[in-house]
Amino acid sequence: ATPTESGAVEANHAAFVRAQAAIPGGVNSPVRAYGSVGGDPRFLARAAGPYVYDVAGREYVDLVCSWGPALLGHAHPDVVEAVRSAAARGLSFGAPTVAEVELAEEIRRRVPAAERVRLVSTGTEATMTAIRLARGVTGRPLIVKFAGNYHGHVDALLAEAGSGVATLAMPGTAGVTAAAAAETLVLPYNDLAAVERAFAERGAQIAAVIVEASAANMGVVPPLPGFNAGLRRLTAAHGALLILDEVLTGFRVGPSGWWGLEGRADAGGYTPDLFTFGKVVGGGMPVAALGGPATVMSQLAPEGPVYQAGTLSGNPVAVAAGLATLRLADDAVYARVDAAARALSDAVGAALDAQGVAHRVQRAGSLFSVFFGPAAAADGVRDYADAQAQEAFRYRAFFHAMLDAGVNLPPSVFEAWFLSAAHDDDALGRVVDALPAAARAAAAA
Ligand code: PMP
Repeated sequence: ATPTESGAVEANHAAFVRAQAAIPGGVNSPVRAYGSVGGDPRFLARAAGPYVYDVAGREYVDLVCSWGPALLGHAHPDVVEAVRSAAARGLSFGAPTVAEVELAEEIRRRVPAAERVRLVSTGTEATMTAIRLARGVTGRPLIVKFAGNYHGHVDALLAEAGSGVATLAMPGTAGVTAAAAAETLVLPYNDLAAVERAFAERGAQIAAVIVEASAANMGVVPPLPGFNAGLRRLTAAHGALLILDEVLTGFRVGPSGWWGLEGRADAGGYTPDLFTFGKVVGGGMPVAALGGPATVMSQLAPEGPVYQAGTLSGNPVAVAAGLATLRLADDAVYARVDAAARALSDAVGAALDAQGVAHRVQRAGSLFSVFFGPAAAADGVRDYADAQAQEAFRYRAFFHAMLDAGVNLPPSVFEAWFLSAAHDDDALGRVVDALPAAARAAAAA
């Protein structure tokens, strides 16, 4: 390392050592740790457009994008200005505002089945509220989820979860009671026959099926054609609710989320009972939401008997960021992100092919990720068992080669890569230039 490079390594390491003495693991969310790739997580100081900068001033092309929210790129000037101006008018009122209504209306405009929208602060709160609402409406106890799907750190939804739970290879988590775990049925993703059997055996007890609109927390594993529609058919037949979790995909893969690509009538047609949103809907600030038909949503307090609340729900500064982001996210933005994802995922595949690294790149709209190994290459990855069977060790070498070349990838093979409308030819070119050495590192791993 050059003297400046070793100074940078030291500055970042000092931040990490200090963090570990004050914060468990030095991070406020496990996915930020470099647990499965090794090394010190980069401590970031600022971000702009497609780039992030660490505490030592090193620049990286960012393919994490805050795990989704930064659809327009980091610190878009119009979004920052909306936040600045909202902050000057007051940070939090604990009373309703017109901006909250505008955000709810913007969500409904994009996803008309979200007739009523409740704003919360995190995706976890959105899914937690959705399952409470489903239980309240149906009077039934059980929730069906899919292995490798992640819906936030809700007790009932952590069993065989994706994202950080998958990265840490945890089957579940300590601190969840056996009673809570027993009320969750975990089924293999993309296996409609398993869902049919569950309904045949315990249908009268099932309150809801919750599913990622397109799974992206075990790497990117799109639903097989007809899977989501089949879930809709089965839940409807048995009086259970279907909760489509669009926290990650919503307003990122298209103006109306994954549902807009696959669910709307002109695309083949299915409509869930409840949608959950997060990430892009807050434009980088803490906003998430759930939405659904007026008849179901009216069961939430104060109209109905299902309680849900939040001191900071619909926070005016956070809502300003979300509203500004959605208003800027027009068709041209989605077209740019799509084109960037197509170009980059093709380039990743070509670089790995050139080094003879067996792999499969899987894409869902503008989301994609790489699975390593001959099994993934031959058959693709359609569920959590497939994702876990890959040669995950190759990613560690690949990740660090990219990082050394100034590209910030998700520090786990079980996460999607995120792009933004700010990823221009220059930023993408830098990623493409870094790929051959990373592919060689993966081959040698
Ligand atoms: N659902 C999905 C599909 C997610 O990807 C996530 C977060 N990655 C969540 C829910 C939880 O959101 P949050 O981290 O904001 O609680």
